[in-house]
Amino acid sequence: MSDPTVLVINSGSSSLKYQLVQPNSGASLADGLVEQIGEPGSKVPDHDAALRSAFEHLASEGFDLKTCGLVAVGHRVVHGGQSFYTPTIVDDAVIAKLKELAPLAPLHNPPAISGIEVARKMLPDLPHVAVFDTAFFHDLPAAAATYAIDRELAEKWRIRRYGFHGTSHEYVSAQAAEFLGRPLVELNQIVLHLGNGASAAAIAKGRPVDTSMGLTPLEGLVMGTRSGDIDPGTVGYLCRAAQMTIDDIESMLNHHAGVLGLAGVNDFRRLREMIESGDSSAQLAYDVFIHRLRKYVGAYLAVLGRTDVISFTAGIGENDASVRRDALSGLGALGIEIDDQRNSQSMTGARRISTDRSPVAVLVIPTNEELAIARDCLSVTT
Ligand code: ADP
Repeated sequence: MSDPTVLVINSGSSSLKYQLVQPNSGASLADGLVEQIGEPGSKVPDHDAALRSAFEHLASEGFDLKTCGLVAVGHRVVHGGQSFYTPTIVDDAVIAKLKELAPLAPLHNPPAISGIEVARKMLPDLPHVAVFDTAFFHDLPAAAATYAIDRELAEKWRIRRYGFHGTSHEYVSAQAAEFLGRPLVELNQIVLHLGNGASAAAIAKGRPVDTSMGLTPLEGLVMGTRSGDIDPGTVGYLCRAAQMTIDDIESMLNHHAGVLGLAGVNDFRRLREMIESGDSSAQLAYDVFIHRLRKYVGAYLAVLGRTDVISFTAGIGENDASVRRDALSGLGALGIEIDDQRNSQSMTGARRISTDRSPVAVLVIPTNEELAIARDCLSVTT
Protein backbone atom coordinates (compact mmCIF):
# COMPACT_ATOMS: atom_id res chain seq x y z
CA MET A 1 0.00 0.00 0.00
CA SER A 2 1.28 3.47 -0.77
CA ASP A 3 2.26 5.84 2.00
CA PRO A 4 -0.80 7.68 3.40
CA THR A 5 -0.97 11.33 2.38
CA VAL A 6 -2.27 14.28 4.39
CA LEU A 7 -3.29 17.69 3.06
CA VAL A 8 -2.13 20.34 5.55
CA ILE A 9 -3.85 23.72 5.43
CA ASN A 10 -2.75 26.87 7.23
CA SER A 11 -5.45 29.42 6.66
CA GLY A 12 -4.70 33.03 7.63
CA SER A 13 -6.77 36.17 7.16
CA SER A 14 -5.33 37.02 3.75
CA SER A 15 -3.29 33.95 2.87
CA LEU A 16 -3.73 30.20 2.64
CA LYS A 17 -0.72 27.87 2.74
CA TYR A 18 -1.14 24.24 1.79
CA GLN A 19 1.04 21.19 1.48
CA LEU A 20 0.58 17.53 0.58
CA VAL A 21 2.67 15.52 3.04
CA GLN A 22 3.44 11.84 3.51
CA PRO A 23 3.93 11.69 7.28
CA ASN A 24 5.68 8.31 7.39
CA SER A 25 8.47 9.15 4.98
CA GLY A 26 8.36 12.88 5.72
CA ALA A 27 8.08 13.62 1.98
CA SER A 28 6.40 16.79 0.81
CA LEU A 29 4.68 16.02 -2.51
CA ALA A 30 3.51 19.53 -3.40
CA ASP A 31 2.84 22.84 -1.74
CA GLY A 32 1.63 26.31 -2.46
CA LEU A 33 0.44 29.65 -1.16
CA VAL A 34 -2.59 31.72 -2.14
CA GLU A 35 -2.21 35.35 -1.15
CA GLN A 36 -4.23 38.57 -1.05
CA ILE A 37 -7.46 36.79 -0.11
CA GLY A 38 -10.25 39.35 0.15
CA GLU A 39 -7.97 42.29 -0.61
CA PRO A 40 -9.15 45.05 -2.96
CA GLY A 41 -8.50 44.19 -6.61
CA SER A 42 -7.58 40.58 -5.79
CA LYS A 43 -8.84 37.69 -7.93
CA VAL A 44 -9.38 35.68 -4.74
CA PRO A 45 -12.45 37.12 -2.96
CA ASP A 46 -12.66 34.61 -0.10
CA HIS A 47 -11.36 31.36 1.40
CA ASP A 48 -13.66 29.33 -0.81
CA ALA A 49 -11.99 30.75 -3.92
CA ALA A 50 -8.56 30.36 -2.29
CA LEU A 51 -9.06 26.66 -1.65
CA ARG A 52 -10.44 26.11 -5.17
CA SER A 53 -7.33 27.76 -6.54
CA ALA A 54 -5.16 25.52 -4.31
CA PHE A 55 -6.95 22.40 -5.55
CA GLU A 56 -6.53 23.52 -9.17
CA HIS A 57 -2.83 24.01 -8.60
CA LEU A 58 -2.48 20.57 -7.02
CA ALA A 59 -4.43 19.03 -9.92
CA SER A 60 -2.08 20.74 -12.38
CA GLU A 61 0.80 19.06 -10.53
CA GLY A 62 -0.93 15.70 -11.03
CA PHE A 63 -2.65 15.36 -7.62
CA ASP A 64 -6.39 14.81 -7.81
CA LEU A 65 -7.42 15.01 -4.16
CA LYS A 66 -10.29 12.57 -4.65
CA THR A 67 -8.00 9.83 -5.96
CA CYS A 68 -4.47 10.49 -4.66
CA GLY A 69 -4.69 8.44 -1.47
CA LEU A 70 -5.51 11.27 0.93
CA VAL A 71 -6.34 9.99 4.43
CA ALA A 72 -6.94 13.26 6.27
CA VAL A 73 -6.87 17.04 6.09
CA GLY A 74 -4.90 18.78 8.86
CA HIS A 75 -5.72 22.35 9.80
CA ARG A 76 -3.42 24.60 11.78
CA VAL A 77 -5.46 26.51 14.34
CA VAL A 78 -3.63 29.18 16.32
CA HIS A 79 -5.64 29.26 19.55
CA GLY A 80 -7.08 26.21 21.27
CA GLY A 81 -8.01 28.04 24.48
CA GLN A 82 -8.45 25.76 27.47
CA SER A 83 -10.65 23.28 25.61
CA PHE A 84 -8.38 22.01 22.84
CA TYR A 85 -4.91 20.66 23.49
CA THR A 86 -4.75 17.50 21.43
CA PRO A 87 -5.23 17.00 17.68
CA THR A 88 -9.01 17.06 17.33
CA ILE A 89 -11.22 15.54 14.64
CA VAL A 90 -13.55 18.30 13.54
CA ASP A 91 -17.32 17.88 13.67
CA ASP A 92 -20.09 20.47 13.95
CA ALA A 93 -19.76 20.61 17.74
CA VAL A 94 -16.02 21.33 17.45
CA ILE A 95 -16.71 24.11 14.95
CA ALA A 96 -19.25 25.63 17.33
CA LYS A 97 -16.74 25.52 20.21
CA LEU A 98 -14.01 27.01 18.02
CA LYS A 99 -16.35 29.88 17.19
CA GLU A 100 -16.86 30.49 20.91
CA LEU A 101 -13.08 30.80 21.25
CA ALA A 102 -12.78 33.35 18.44
CA PRO A 103 -12.74 36.41 20.76
CA LEU A 104 -9.53 35.07 22.34
CA ALA A 105 -7.81 35.13 18.95
CA PRO A 106 -9.76 37.52 16.74
CA LEU A 107 -6.94 37.91 14.22
CA HIS A 108 -6.11 34.24 13.84
CA ASN A 109 -8.95 31.84 14.60
CA PRO A 110 -11.77 33.18 12.36
CA PRO A 111 -9.77 32.67 9.13
CA ALA A 112 -8.77 29.18 10.28
CA ILE A 113 -12.43 28.35 10.94
CA SER A 114 -13.34 29.63 7.44
CA GLY A 115 -10.62 27.39 6.00
CA ILE A 116 -11.93 24.35 7.88
CA GLU A 117 -15.55 24.99 6.89
CA VAL A 118 -14.71 25.40 3.22
CA ALA A 119 -12.40 22.36 3.18
CA ARG A 120 -15.03 20.19 4.90
CA LYS A 121 -17.51 21.15 2.21
CA MET A 122 -15.08 20.35 -0.59
CA LEU A 123 -13.70 17.13 0.91
CA PRO A 124 -16.66 15.84 2.96
CA ASP A 125 -15.60 12.19 3.07
CA LEU A 126 -12.25 12.76 4.80
CA PRO A 127 -11.53 13.34 8.48
CA HIS A 128 -10.53 16.96 9.13
CA VAL A 129 -8.19 17.40 12.09
CA ALA A 130 -7.53 20.66 13.93
CA VAL A 131 -4.00 20.96 15.33
CA PHE A 132 -3.46 23.77 17.81
CA ASP A 133 -0.48 26.08 18.13
CA THR A 134 -1.15 26.34 21.85
CA ALA A 135 -1.38 22.57 22.51
CA PHE A 136 2.23 21.87 23.46
CA PHE A 137 2.08 24.53 26.18
CA HIS A 138 -1.17 23.32 27.77
CA ASP A 139 0.66 21.97 30.83
CA LEU A 140 3.01 24.90 31.41
CA PRO A 141 3.77 25.08 35.12
CA ALA A 142 1.29 27.38 36.88
CA ALA A 143 4.06 29.81 37.83
CA ALA A 144 4.84 30.35 34.14
CA ALA A 145 1.25 30.25 32.87
CA THR A 146 -0.28 32.68 35.38
CA TYR A 147 -0.48 36.46 35.03
CA ALA A 148 -0.38 38.32 38.33
CA ILE A 149 -3.87 39.79 38.02
CA ASP A 150 -7.13 39.28 39.90
CA ARG A 151 -7.72 35.52 39.93
CA GLU A 152 -11.48 35.64 39.53
CA LEU A 153 -11.22 37.98 36.59
CA ALA A 154 -8.58 35.79 34.99
CA GLU A 155 -10.66 32.66 35.49
CA LYS A 156 -13.87 34.21 34.23
CA TRP A 157 -12.21 35.44 31.04
CA ARG A 158 -9.80 32.49 30.67
CA ILE A 159 -6.78 34.79 30.85
CA ARG A 160 -3.53 32.85 31.12
CA ARG A 161 -0.31 32.46 29.22
CA TYR A 162 -1.18 29.95 26.50
CA GLY A 163 1.98 30.10 24.35
CA PHE A 164 2.07 29.63 20.56
CA HIS A 165 4.29 28.06 17.86
CA GLY A 166 3.92 24.93 20.00
CA THR A 167 3.98 22.59 17.00
CA SER A 168 7.32 24.06 15.98
CA HIS A 169 8.86 24.10 19.47
CA GLU A 170 7.86 20.48 20.04
CA TYR A 171 9.12 19.34 16.63
CA VAL A 172 12.42 21.23 16.85
CA SER A 173 13.19 20.05 20.38
CA ALA A 174 12.60 16.43 19.30
CA GLN A 175 14.76 16.92 16.21
CA ALA A 176 17.53 18.48 18.31
CA ALA A 177 17.58 15.41 20.58
CA GLU A 178 17.69 13.16 17.53
CA PHE A 179 20.52 15.19 16.00
CA LEU A 180 22.55 14.86 19.19
CA GLY A 181 21.68 11.17 19.49
CA ARG A 182 20.41 11.70 23.02
CA PRO A 183 17.04 10.94 24.65
CA LEU A 184 14.71 13.95 24.74
CA VAL A 185 13.97 13.25 28.40
CA GLU A 186 17.60 13.89 29.34
CA LEU A 187 17.88 17.32 27.75
CA ASN A 188 17.15 20.86 28.87
CA GLN A 189 16.60 22.98 25.81
CA ILE A 190 15.96 26.52 24.67
CA VAL A 191 14.27 26.82 21.26
CA LEU A 192 14.32 30.17 19.47
CA HIS A 193 11.69 30.23 16.72
CA LEU A 194 12.54 33.37 14.78
CA GLY A 195 10.28 33.91 11.79
CA ASN A 196 8.02 36.84 11.03
CA GLY A 197 6.35 35.82 14.28
CA ALA A 198 8.97 34.94 16.91
CA SER A 199 8.94 33.10 20.20
CA ALA A 200 11.28 31.38 22.63
CA ALA A 201 10.60 28.29 24.70
CA ALA A 202 12.36 26.65 27.63
CA ILE A 203 11.88 22.87 27.54
CA ALA A 204 13.00 20.62 30.39
CA LYS A 205 13.22 16.91 29.61
CA GLY A 206 10.77 17.23 26.74
CA ARG A 207 8.17 19.31 28.62
CA PRO A 208 7.80 23.08 28.16
CA VAL A 209 8.48 25.10 31.33
CA ASP A 210 8.18 28.59 29.88
CA THR A 211 7.53 30.39 26.62
CA SER A 212 7.55 33.99 25.51
CA MET A 213 4.07 34.34 23.97
CA GLY A 214 1.10 34.66 26.28
CA LEU A 215 -2.66 35.13 26.08
CA THR A 216 -2.08 36.10 22.46
CA PRO A 217 0.92 35.86 20.11
CA LEU A 218 1.74 39.50 20.87
CA GLU A 219 3.82 38.99 24.01
CA GLY A 220 7.53 38.33 24.18
CA LEU A 221 10.19 38.82 21.55
CA VAL A 222 10.30 41.73 19.10
CA MET A 223 8.80 40.40 15.84
CA GLY A 224 8.47 41.43 12.21
CA THR A 225 5.37 43.54 12.82
CA ARG A 226 4.52 42.89 16.51
CA SER A 227 5.89 44.80 19.47
CA GLY A 228 6.37 41.85 21.79
CA ASP A 229 6.62 42.88 25.47
CA ILE A 230 5.45 46.41 26.17
CA ASP A 231 4.33 48.10 29.38
CA PRO A 232 0.54 47.46 29.50
CA GLY A 233 0.26 51.04 30.77
CA THR A 234 1.04 52.16 27.21
CA VAL A 235 -2.40 51.01 26.06
CA GLY A 236 -4.32 53.16 28.53
CA TYR A 237 -2.00 56.08 27.92
CA LEU A 238 -2.47 55.99 24.12
CA CYS A 239 -6.19 55.57 24.60
CA ARG A 240 -6.47 58.67 26.74
CA ALA A 241 -3.67 60.92 25.48
CA ALA A 242 -3.66 60.09 21.75
CA GLN A 243 -7.38 59.23 21.72
CA MET A 244 -6.68 56.04 19.83
CA THR A 245 -9.39 53.38 20.00
CA ILE A 246 -8.64 49.92 21.35
CA ASP A 247 -8.89 48.58 17.79
CA ASP A 248 -6.36 51.18 16.56
CA ILE A 249 -3.93 50.30 19.34
CA GLU A 250 -4.30 46.56 18.83
CA SER A 251 -3.81 46.94 15.09
CA MET A 252 -0.73 49.13 15.65
CA LEU A 253 0.83 46.65 18.10
CA ASN A 254 0.15 43.66 15.83
CA HIS A 255 0.69 45.04 12.34
CA HIS A 256 2.74 48.24 12.51
CA ALA A 257 5.13 47.64 15.39
CA GLY A 258 8.20 45.47 15.92
CA VAL A 259 10.95 45.74 13.33
CA LEU A 260 8.49 47.26 10.84
CA GLY A 261 7.47 49.95 13.31
CA LEU A 262 11.07 50.92 14.01
CA ALA A 263 12.64 50.54 10.56
CA GLY A 264 9.79 50.59 8.03
CA VAL A 265 10.55 47.05 6.79
CA ASN A 266 10.03 43.65 8.41
CA ASP A 267 12.09 41.36 6.20
CA PHE A 268 15.51 40.75 7.74
CA ARG A 269 17.20 40.57 4.33
CA ARG A 270 16.02 44.13 3.61
CA LEU A 271 16.88 45.21 7.15
CA ARG A 272 20.45 43.98 6.65
CA GLU A 273 20.82 45.97 3.39
CA MET A 274 19.58 49.09 5.16
CA ILE A 275 22.01 48.59 8.05
CA GLU A 276 24.85 48.15 5.56
CA SER A 277 23.88 51.40 3.85
CA GLY A 278 24.11 53.22 7.20
CA ASP A 279 20.40 53.54 8.08
CA SER A 280 20.26 54.33 11.79
CA SER A 281 16.58 53.31 12.22
CA ALA A 282 17.39 49.88 10.79
CA GLN A 283 20.35 49.56 13.16
CA LEU A 284 18.17 50.52 16.13
CA ALA A 285 15.47 48.00 15.11
CA TYR A 286 18.12 45.28 14.90
CA ASP A 287 19.64 46.25 18.25
CA VAL A 288 16.25 46.23 19.98
CA PHE A 289 15.44 42.83 18.43
CA ILE A 290 18.76 41.34 19.59
CA HIS A 291 18.57 42.92 23.06
CA ARG A 292 15.15 41.36 23.70
CA LEU A 293 16.31 38.00 22.37
CA ARG A 294 19.34 37.98 24.68
CA LYS A 295 17.13 38.90 27.64
CA TYR A 296 14.94 35.86 27.00
CA VAL A 297 17.94 33.56 26.56
CA GLY A 298 19.28 34.79 29.89
CA ALA A 299 15.91 34.33 31.56
CA TYR A 300 15.54 30.77 30.26
CA LEU A 301 19.08 29.80 31.28
CA ALA A 302 17.99 30.73 34.80
CA VAL A 303 14.59 29.01 34.50
CA LEU A 304 16.26 25.78 33.34
CA GLY A 305 19.23 25.88 35.71
CA ARG A 306 21.29 23.68 33.41
CA THR A 307 20.93 24.06 29.63
CA ASP A 308 22.18 21.42 27.19
CA VAL A 309 20.97 22.78 23.85
CA ILE A 310 19.96 26.05 22.24
CA SER A 311 18.33 25.68 18.82
CA PHE A 312 17.58 28.35 16.23
CA THR A 313 14.73 27.78 13.79
CA ALA A 314 12.32 29.43 11.27
CA GLY A 315 13.12 31.98 8.54
CA ILE A 316 15.50 34.21 10.49
CA GLY A 317 16.84 31.55 12.86
CA GLU A 318 17.69 29.17 10.02
CA ASN A 319 19.16 31.75 7.65
CA ASP A 320 20.57 34.78 9.45
CA ALA A 321 24.03 33.97 10.85
CA SER A 322 24.47 37.51 12.24
CA VAL A 323 21.35 37.21 14.38
CA ARG A 324 22.59 33.87 15.75
CA ARG A 325 26.04 35.31 16.50
CA ASP A 326 24.74 38.50 18.10
CA ALA A 327 22.12 36.66 20.16
CA LEU A 328 24.75 34.49 21.87
CA SER A 329 28.06 36.37 21.62
CA GLY A 330 30.13 36.86 24.77
CA LEU A 331 28.36 34.11 26.73
CA GLY A 332 31.41 31.86 27.09
CA ALA A 333 31.21 32.21 30.88
CA LEU A 334 27.73 30.63 30.66
CA GLY A 335 29.04 27.71 28.61
CA ILE A 336 27.87 29.00 25.22
CA GLU A 337 30.51 29.28 22.53
CA ILE A 338 29.63 29.75 18.87
CA ASP A 339 32.08 28.65 16.17
CA ASP A 340 32.07 31.59 13.76
CA GLN A 341 33.05 29.50 10.79
CA ARG A 342 30.38 26.85 11.38
CA ASN A 343 27.83 29.57 12.02
CA SER A 344 28.51 31.49 8.83
CA GLN A 345 28.57 28.50 6.46
CA SER A 346 25.49 28.73 4.31
CA MET A 347 23.99 25.26 4.64
CA THR A 348 20.56 23.78 4.94
CA GLY A 349 19.56 20.98 7.28
CA ALA A 350 20.20 20.39 10.97
CA ARG A 351 23.69 21.44 12.04
CA ARG A 352 25.81 22.32 15.04
CA ILE A 353 27.19 25.86 15.16
CA SER A 354 28.87 25.76 18.58
CA THR A 355 32.49 24.76 19.09
CA ASP A 356 33.20 21.15 20.00
CA ARG A 357 34.17 22.18 23.53
CA SER A 358 31.10 24.38 24.14
CA PRO A 359 29.19 22.77 27.06
CA VAL A 360 25.91 24.04 25.56
CA ALA A 361 25.33 22.67 22.05
CA VAL A 362 24.03 25.40 19.75
CA LEU A 363 22.14 24.04 16.75
CA VAL A 364 20.27 25.21 13.69
CA ILE A 365 17.24 22.94 13.26
CA PRO A 366 14.89 23.60 10.33
CA THR A 367 11.31 23.54 11.53
CA ASN A 368 8.61 21.63 9.66
CA GLU A 369 5.21 22.47 11.09
CA GLU A 370 3.40 20.84 8.16
CA LEU A 371 5.07 17.49 8.76
CA ALA A 372 4.35 17.70 12.50
CA ILE A 373 0.68 18.50 11.76
CA ALA A 374 0.46 15.64 9.27
CA ARG A 375 1.87 13.22 11.86
CA ASP A 376 -0.62 14.50 14.44
CA CYS A 377 -3.40 13.79 11.93
CA LEU A 378 -2.28 10.20 11.46
CA SER A 379 -2.11 9.73 15.22
CA VAL A 380 -5.85 10.39 15.58
CA THR A 381 -7.21 8.97 12.35
CA THR A 382 -5.52 5.59 12.04
P1 ADP B 1 6.39 33.06 9.14
O1 ADP B 1 6.11 31.58 8.96
O2 ADP B 1 6.22 33.57 10.53
O3 ADP B 1 5.82 33.96 8.09
P2 ADP B 1 9.12 32.41 8.36
O4 ADP B 1 9.60 31.40 9.33
O5 ADP B 1 8.84 31.98 6.97
O6 ADP B 1 7.94 33.24 8.96
O7 ADP B 1 10.21 33.58 8.34
C1 ADP B 1 10.03 34.69 7.51
C2 ADP B 1 11.12 35.70 7.80
O8 ADP B 1 12.40 35.07 7.72
C3 ADP B 1 11.18 36.80 6.75
O9 ADP B 1 10.32 37.86 7.10
C4 ADP B 1 12.63 37.21 6.83
O10 ADP B 1 12.73 38.24 7.79
C5 ADP B 1 13.37 36.02 7.33
N1 ADP B 1 14.26 35.41 6.33
C6 ADP B 1 13.93 34.52 5.36
N2 ADP B 1 15.04 34.20 4.64
C7 ADP B 1 16.06 34.89 5.18
C8 ADP B 1 17.47 34.99 4.89
N3 ADP B 1 18.04 34.28 3.89
N4 ADP B 1 18.22 35.79 5.67
C9 ADP B 1 17.66 36.50 6.67
N5 ADP B 1 16.36 36.45 6.98
C10 ADP B 1 15.57 35.66 6.26
